[in-house]
Amino acid sequence: MTVGVYPGSFDPVTYGHFDIIERSSAIMDRLIVAVLNNSSKSPLFSVEERVNMLIDVTKHLPNVEVRSFNGLLVDFVQANQANVIIRGLRAVTDFEYELQLSQTNRVIAPQVDTIFLTTNLKYSYLSSSIVKEIAMYGGDISAFVHPSIAEKIRAKFAGD
Ligand code: ADP
Repeated sequence: MTVGVYPGSFDPVTYGHFDIIERSSAIMDRLIVAVLNNSSKSPLFSVEERVNMLIDVTKHLPNVEVRSFNGLLVDFVQANQANVIIRGLRAVTDFEYELQLSQTNRVIAPQVDTIFLTTNLKYSYLSSSIVKEIAMYGGDISAFVHPSIAEKIRAKFAGD
């Protein structure tokens, strides 16, 4: 049984993340989307909100579950009997950081491997920060996130 963990901030989940989730869930027996509960990054959405948004957009995928985690990713991976970490690569700028991260994780936990899925060309430019920046200025984000997520972002910036 191949169990994958796809970790990230997902603040908020974009079509780029969603594409990686759909494609990796087709490869894995089970996929756990792991939302990092990071106090240092001061996210726009709380970890509960990010988890709920991911549950909402993945509800049609029966082998996907969403959880939050604190601390070391490899500890979370092992505690969940998973064996693979999934990461997405957009451009060469992602590569250096991702390489360092995956190599460090392999030193700490040699039995856990990282696999990379290259971005869907349609979403290669897309990041959560760009979406937030456009939304902050009232721009149209419908090409970047699911309609339900766009509404939550709009409400957040409107202070509803
Ligand atoms: P992190 O803070 O861990 O980088 P993110 O939520 O920004 O969290 O990203 C989580 C993962 O999703 C990373 O592997 C990132 O490279 C990948 N990712 C983000 N946006 C895209 C995209 N548009 N296409 C492919 N992968 C993406």
